[in-house]
Amino acid sequence: MVEATTNKSTVLIVEDNPANMKLVGDLLRYNSLNVVEATDGPSALDALKTVRPDLILMDINLPRMSGIDLFKKIREQRRFNSVTIVALTALAMKEDKETILNAGFDGYISKPIDTREFVRLVREKLPAR
Ligand code: MN
Repeated sequence: MVEATTNKSTVLIVEDNPANMKLVGDLLRYNSLNVVEATDGPSALDALKTVRPDLILMDINLPRMSGIDLFKKIREQRRFNSVTIVALTALAMKEDKETILNAGFDGYISKPIDTREFVRLVREKLPAR
């Protein structure tokens, strides 16, 4: 495990869209958070072997493995069974939101993101440390 060298919280972003990844990453870095980026499920699982994030922001529509399946794979791991995981998705239909929350996600942020609202939601979801 890589221990944080600062008091900054770490956020793992799982997002396959480069523009969204840059926007979300920049917003978090600008707000003094450490950011780890993964563009699909397998690379997110790989990153979690060495990083212990305080929060995971996860796109649902991902290549190779859906965000829902990735969520389950992360939760299966004992050390991550209580890590905060928030869906970050363009799926805007009420039914989809219910599917995500019923799967056990800790929250839901719709894309396109409102930058101010996004930062507020991330701060709200970040566990105190
Ligand atoms: Mn996507």
